[in-house]
Amino acid sequence: MFLPTTHAEMQNRGWGELDVILVSGDSYIDTPYSGIAVIGRVLINAGYRVGVIAQPDVNSDQDITRLGEPALFWGVSGGTVDSMVANYTATLRKRRTDDFTPGGVNNRRPDRAVIAYTNLIKKHFKSKSPIVLGGIEASLRRITHYDYWSDRLRAPILFDSKADYLLYGMAEVSLLELAAALREQRSPHDIRGLAYLAKESPAGYIELPSYEEVLADKLAFTRMFHLFYHNNDPITAKGLAQRKGDRFVVLNPPSRTLEQTELDEIYSYDFQRAQHPYYESQGPVKALETIRFAIPTHRGCYGECNFCAIAVHEGRTVSSRSLGSILQEAERISRHPHFNGIITDLSGPTANMYGIECEKKLKLGACEDKRCIYPQICPVLKINHARQIEMLQKIRQIPGIHKVSVGSGIRYDMVMADHQCGMQYLDEIVRFHTSGQLKVAPEHSEQVVLSLMGKPSTDFLLKFKEKFQTLSRKAGKDQYLTYYLIAAYPGSSDKEMKALRKFVLTSLQVLPEQVQVFTPTPSTYASLMYYTEQDPFTGEPLFVEKNLHRKALQKDLVTASRPGKSTPPGVVKPGHSNQNRKPAHGRK
Ligand code: SF4
Repeated sequence: MFLPTTHAEMQNRGWGELDVILVSGDSYIDTPYSGIAVIGRVLINAGYRVGVIAQPDVNSDQDITRLGEPALFWGVSGGTVDSMVANYTATLRKRRTDDFTPGGVNNRRPDRAVIAYTNLIKKHFKSKSPIVLGGIEASLRRITHYDYWSDRLRAPILFDSKADYLLYGMAEVSLLELAAALREQRSPHDIRGLAYLAKESPAGYIELPSYEEVLADKLAFTRMFHLFYHNNDPITAKGLAQRKGDRFVVLNPPSRTLEQTELDEIYSYDFQRAQHPYYESQGPVKALETIRFAIPTHRGCYGECNFCAIAVHEGRTVSSRSLGSILQEAERISRHPHFNGIITDLSGPTANMYGIECEKKLKLGACEDKRCIYPQICPVLKINHARQIEMLQKIRQIPGIHKVSVGSGIRYDMVMADHQCGMQYLDEIVRFHTSGQLKVAPEHSEQVVLSLMGKPSTDFLLKFKEKFQTLSRKAGKDQYLTYYLIAAYPGSSDKEMKALRKFVLTSLQVLPEQVQVFTPTPSTYASLMYYTEQDPFTGEPLFVEKNLHRKALQKDLVTASRPGKSTPPGVVKPGHSNQNRKPAHGRK
């Protein structure tokens, strides 16, 4: 059953009013990939009455007043992607299309959606019910952050939005605790994963450099970001507070990671894997094509690429579902009336981290002074793809499933580091789970840029490519690797892009089209580099291309066929365009 979006649906459930209304910048598609679908079900399962208003018109009261006022709180999210990322390209042109809007035309999601929706609620309800922000836009803007679209530091979003609370990260546990506190009219201020505004910094909390200080001093902003980044582990993090004027934003330590049984329960809910009929009349939602019959296997990522916000949003700890839960979901999908036999993706932020986590981290928290797989793979992390192999083999045996794609990126350095099962895993992928091409994300070739990205060297890539080709040939399959690359990353000049072009033409033998101009998204180390023009780990000055035209030229340096020169022999030109690929918050 869908979550209600109209009074008629509320009445069908016997509800005269709602406890919680969820407002989102995405259309309402009922899948486990939709934040409101998951959060709504978690609340309903705990006995709350929940409704959804998706993409309300911010210029009228029609949508936002449709369900009345909630008894407990409003939950506001910008959607699956930060609204500014969804609305603008890296060169700041308005995007015409939106994969999460019915009909695909980008005309429903306001800029800074979280703020726009909060204002909308406040305008039409002299609200007694608090407004709670959540989702990636709020989560990554919970502290002072660089905002690429206005080219300045912006204050924590609770100051700008005037909402009451913010729940950051994966918020199921915090949300249930908040709902209970509000129902019982208790203060929610001790809930982990919660942010709020206060007159004082709580005792024992780390006071970050203030908003005014970081505005005036880039080094203070760097200090602030290090403290913020390193206090994000559910076991070791301290609470944080940052002053702006005469108030503080208080960030309680992160919520605990869900137990496997809790994670399994969430994915056992009866998601309809469809667009809600109320919104269906406005046209199809393109995103549904790729996520309708996809299965999330885990959360979190310890890759910690510096341009990616997954570590800040989902955390560095990978929590995996049980094999039984994944197989049950696959069986449910196989019985879906519209299922065509193809599972379009089976993965998490990084596909092959499923079932692989550090025992030390699970008990004592992530190391503060080192990363798990960069610059080399930590020996404490025992990489073994055995569980993934078992999962792939078992899922293929389910009647009605003809094809299972692994489409969310594979860390090839992890495959190469698994001396026990790495090649068997790759063989499985090559023979059964690649649809002609496998996506990998080296992002660059030059060590100076790779180091600033926190990405592995090209040695791993070349070895992986060789193995992939050998195994493909052995399997009698004509298939190739697709490479995701980034132009205009901090530290990358024309010189590095020319070297990248040479590398892809000669060593990878492709003329790549999957090249994306770098977008500095909030609360990443890369956006810190972009803003400060310094390496935050060494303090060295950095070249950063900020001219929009020259950024686009960096991309052209890699992708353009040169006038008067033919494509070198053996070079493959994939038939794919990257024009509409949005910067994911997670790339492998
Ligand atoms: S011991 Fe190694 S794998 Fe474990 S958390 Fe620390 S860096 Fe990561």
